[in-house]
Amino acid sequence: MRDQLPIADVQVVLTAPMGRNLVIAKLSTPESGLYGLGCGTFTQRFHAVDAFLRQHLRPLLLGRDALRTEELWRLMVFNGYWRGGPVVNNAVGAVDMALWDLKAKVAGLPLYQLLGGKVREAAAVYQHADGPTPEALEQHVRELKQHGLRHVRLRLGGGAQATRLDPEAGGVAYGGGGQDQITPPDGAQPGAYFDPRHYVASTLDAFTHIRTTFGDDLELLHDVHERLDLPEAIRFAKELERYRLFFLEDPLALEDFTGYAQLRAHTSTPIAASELFTTAEQWLPLVRDRLIDFLRMHVSDLGGLTPARKAAVTAEHFGVRTAWHGPGDCSPVGHAVNLHLNLATPNFGVQELQPFDDRAREVFPGAPEFRDGYLYPNDRPGHGVDLDEDAAAKYPCQAEVVKWSQARRPDGSLHAP
Ligand SMILES: [Mg+2]
Repeated sequence: MRDQLPIADVQVVLTAPMGRNLVIAKLSTPESGLYGLGCGTFTQRFHAVDAFLRQHLRPLLLGRDALRTEELWRLMVFNGYWRGGPVVNNAVGAVDMALWDLKAKVAGLPLYQLLGGKVREAAAVYQHADGPTPEALEQHVRELKQHGLRHVRLRLGGGAQATRLDPEAGGVAYGGGGQDQITPPDGAQPGAYFDPRHYVASTLDAFTHIRTTFGDDLELLHDVHERLDLPEAIRFAKELERYRLFFLEDPLALEDFTGYAQLRAHTSTPIAASELFTTAEQWLPLVRDRLIDFLRMHVSDLGGLTPARKAAVTAEHFGVRTAWHGPGDCSPVGHAVNLHLNLATPNFGVQELQPFDDRAREVFPGAPEFRDGYLYPNDRPGHGVDLDEDAAAKYPCQAEVVKWSQARRPDGSLHAP
């Protein structure tokens, strides 16, 4: 029986097969072919995660026992004295996922078996429907339904990069149209301008159209993306009650930590939050006081599977379900870890997914399979996803100044993105 497995190397692979910068950690052992893979994708700051992994975590980890997953997580978190933050957490999370992958490979079992075994065969997923008009949105929803989706996130106004008005570059305001109503003061800075009033009104119109067209037999979700203040969020969530949402996501900014209690007191619309959270101190009060209905951290941003599993178990006792963050800035490795956790979590709710294209499947053989609204793992030991490093090198990452997050209100002031 093996009771130790030294870490022989920690490598980092940066790749962008679908355009988003992805960070993968590869932990090697002295045994040929026995390695673990983890996702530490912080797409907007990928160079920082890369440097932290190579220059700080690699020297700390070399030679240590890869099977001591919990101890190594604590070591990585405590070793720098100053703890937390998305750069550190994503690096720690990538290593942590790779350690779990290794452990499951040593055991010869799919990862979900180490998490308690399956409580379901596959994870229900949702995808994003976007469109500049309610009619365009309807068409996108129709396409997703044809692919078997039963959960759809609605957003009027196009994709994330196309929904913001830049007074210099033109564009479309968040919520679809409305740019004519925005008149920033002279000298206002360029940015992603949006008008909360127009956003709320046009989004409610879109929900009316979609519910009228498709009836009640479709789960609808919406992401506010932190763009409302508390009175606006309360009014919006109350108006949305008649459309019976599956959840309303991030109605308040991360920093508005006292707002959730007041929001909860005023509306029955289910609330999802915590996408940007990096510590248990942030999500625990919301779960303990049942102020939200869905936890949805970016698992690597929380520090990996070790803290995410603890969050899911804790949330189970408070009737809070999981809906882990999973758009394009989560690699197939990260999605596979989410999936294995989802399969073993009784209080799983739904999984966000941007489907993998041929390039992503070329770089990540074994990526989970989407069929008829569900995501399925393969039956290989570990999380089941491999990395083709030659293919990964064909799709280099690009560092650019992030524009979409420079959100501004009509008077030109910066707002949470
Ligand atoms: Mg979100």
